Amino acid sequence: MKHKKMLMVVCDGASDRPVKEFDGRTPLQVARKPAMDAIARNGVSGTMDVIAPGVVPGSDTAHLALFGYDPYQVYTGRGPIEAVGAGIDLHEGDVAFRCNFATSDDGVHIRDRRAGRIRSGAAELAEALSGMKLEDVEVIFKEGSEHRAVLVLRGDGLDHRVSDVDPHSEGELLRSRALAPNADKTANLLNEFVARSYEILSKHKINMDREKNGLAPANIVLPRGAGSPAPIDSIASRFKLRCAGIAGVTMVKGICRLVGMNVVDVDGATGGLDTDYLAKARAAVDALEEHDLVFVNIKAPDIAGHDGDFRLKVQVIENIDMMLGSLLKDLHEEVVVALTADHSTPVSIRDHSADPVPVSVSGADSRVDSVREHDEISAASGALGRIRGVDLLPIMLGTANRSSKFGA
Ligand code: ZN
Ligand code: ZN
Repeated sequence: MKHKKMLMVVCDGASDRPVKEFDGRTPLQVARKPAMDAIARNGVSGTMDVIAPGVVPGSDTAHLALFGYDPYQVYTGRGPIEAVGAGIDLHEGDVAFRCNFATSDDGVHIRDRRAGRIRSGAAELAEALSGMKLEDVEVIFKEGSEHRAVLVLRGDGLDHRVSDVDPHSEGELLRSRALAPNADKTANLLNEFVARSYEILSKHKINMDREKNGLAPANIVLPRGAGSPAPIDSIASRFKLRCAGIAGVTMVKGICRLVGMNVVDVDGATGGLDTDYLAKARAAVDALEEHDLVFVNIKAPDIAGHDGDFRLKVQVIENIDMMLGSLLKDLHEEVVVALTADHSTPVSIRDHSADPVPVSVSGADSRVDSVREHDEISAASGALGRIRGVDLLPIMLGTANRSSKFGA
């Protein structure tokens, strides 16, 4: 029995609700998408509650489920995921935060939570903070995209149960408070870090230059989303797979690294609307040479959903379809392909929703049902029925002849 390779394609937030102005159809129903429909036509389809019925998934918890993990067991907040995504090797006991570079005139009031969406110089600013010592605790600080960054506190006696400093809107910054009896030290050090960040960054040459050029200085750091890494069995050891992940967004890369995938960095994969679709397709085909499972995330449909832009969502779905068409053409026909979304992001509500997502799985000799199109409504009549996110990878493994026998 030949083990087949597997490709999981996640169109972030592509799933939607019917929209009256477009004949009560969804963007997936309106888009011309021959490649996606071919996957549905050559395999089996169904709908999927990515976490559980009625639960609105975040992209982070959703991807953990798609990789076969129970997010209620392994999800410990966004901070650690962003930190791992930024390439920081987390240790047990570390406390990680997502951060914004922001603008303040006095170290207390926040004038711009995103420091004018700073485009350059963030790496130098991050370097000026990283390596700082707060009592016996080490500070690791790294820039992300634009105004985003990550902070890791490393040392004894830390506890991630502390409140945010980021006020989440312009105004006065908050003082971090302990949310558990042993978290005082962490909250105090976090407040000290924020004060020091203002002292150091206000005087930094990059910020002097920014002010001279009429740009908002990135002179204070606002941490939020504290978390500590959970011990997690890698996907390689759990499923005996060599896995590669391809994604533009730091957070999704973080999940890939967290479960032990090799993250393939693709030039031009931005995680935005301008992502280089064909470069991602080529990277996926190449990665399948060396790996058993290749995962690809395309963020653009989620962005269109949050913007409430139906036409844009149709357009990006058609772009992804073009990418898939090129990918499938170069793919060995025996590869098991799963096409799905990590959650619905309906344009009508501009946010994630609990609506189940369509899923289609095809492979050379896989079963074929009567579903002809990959969309929310067609998929509901398919042979996969209604599954949960954690079931997807095991279903792919079964289709790829990679599951072992239970019993004699
Ligand atoms: Zn998502
Ligand atoms: Zn989203």
